[in-house]
Amino acid sequence: PPQIRQRIDALAAQGIDVIRVAYPDLIGSDRGRDVLLHHLPSAIGHGIAFCRAIYHTAALGEHSDIPGGLDAGMPDIAVRPDLATLVPLPWEPGVAWCIGDARDPETGRPAPESPRDLLRQVTGRLRESELTAVVGPELEYVLLDPDPASPTGWRRYAGAPGNVYTVGRKGDPDGHLLRTLRHLHDLGIGVTSGNREFDGGQFEINLDHSEALDAADRAFRFKAAVKELARIEGRLATFMAKPLNDGGGSGFHLHLSVVDSEQRNVFDDPGEPYGLSATARHAIAGLLNHAPALAALFNPTINSYKRFGPDTAAPWLIDWGLDNRGAMVRIPPERGSGSRLEIRLGDATANPYLAIAGLVAAVHLGISDAAEPPAPMSGYGYDAAGAPKLPTHLGEALDALEADHQLTEVLGKPFVDAFLTFKRDELTRFRSYVTDWEFREYSHLL
Ligand code: GLU
Ligand code: MG
Ligand code: MG
Repeated sequence: PPQIRQRIDALAAQGIDVIRVAYPDLIGSDRGRDVLLHHLPSAIGHGIAFCRAIYHTAALGEHSDIPGGLDAGMPDIAVRPDLATLVPLPWEPGVAWCIGDARDPETGRPAPESPRDLLRQVTGRLRESELTAVVGPELEYVLLDPDPASPTGWRRYAGAPGNVYTVGRKGDPDGHLLRTLRHLHDLGIGVTSGNREFDGGQFEINLDHSEALDAADRAFRFKAAVKELARIEGRLATFMAKPLNDGGGSGFHLHLSVVDSEQRNVFDDPGEPYGLSATARHAIAGLLNHAPALAALFNPTINSYKRFGPDTAAPWLIDWGLDNRGAMVRIPPERGSGSRLEIRLGDATANPYLAIAGLVAAVHLGISDAAEPPAPMSGYGYDAAGAPKLPTHLGEALDALEADHQLTEVLGKPFVDAFLTFKRDELTRFRSYVTDWEFREYSHLL
């Protein structure tokens, strides 16, 4: 087509000769191929063929029974570049980065476990009520330096001085944060600010808010880009929920507002308690009611459950509160067009597409059921009587997802089944693996 020809000529004139087509796999990791620019028309036409099992996991052959796994002969998926997402990579001259969509090569239909398509489908359900979810992601990560003397091979970057919100070289001797912020800005990720977090080498970067799929695309790219930029510095940026014992976790907070077809914030109502509309209350109730199942998507690793706990800035109970950072759902003080929920459940290992799909699904259910939440918690809430606890390990969250028929109906059973199979395989592999803690605890005593 002539538009594609024009686009290619324009890219060539900009000095681009390679398009990196990357799609999010089920865990939210970026997978793809570097495609020479002259090959792009064919990649757009047929899609780029990938072995579908690779679509799910790092370890080939361990998930023979997943859709498209060895049991099915590991057929192809076709990844179609979404040219609307194409941006030049500021740190890799000549390369532009484009997100792809995973399709069935025969029918051209979305693969059932494609995270981008899942999110499109779920936002479509909310749109049936003429509502649109607007999401602002915040991500934390820990930066590590190589250390041959450490058992993991890594130690905290700039571990020693400073505390949360320490600015400048004190907590960031090598200027990592400024460099990263500027690169992300040049990439068009929509970053607004960044700061040193509670722990040495821990940073938080905030992203602008936008419609759910765009917000997920930006969070997906954010994680891939931060990891890549750290690699260029010879470092490791980890989004693990709780990477080290001497510190807290890394959260993936999501700010959510919902707007109607006139772009009016429907969470705002000065006439209702706390200035929060009935729709906001239903949304909160939907999140609380489905929280155990949502944990599977927001906290998808074995490590995730080590971040939760009393006396952390992460949640422990299924509750909500007004400007209270101990709650799972915090209502920031701003009202009017800024009325929103901050969902603090997620950790940084969450696949942004799946977490945001779960968020929108639970809000959709809360609104359509006109569900009402209990009273908000206040003050020190970690020991509140009556509030249910979040799952304490991954297996519990997966069982809760399986048991949540309403959420499964919105997400679609093929997706939920694929996700459960993949994650239960992870649990099985962990169950027989002996950790260093066990050796230290038991080897001499027992
Ligand atoms: N690191 C905390 C968490 O795991 C959040 C700290 C904050 O409030 O920014 O969620
Ligand atoms: Mg933070
Ligand atoms: Mg936050």
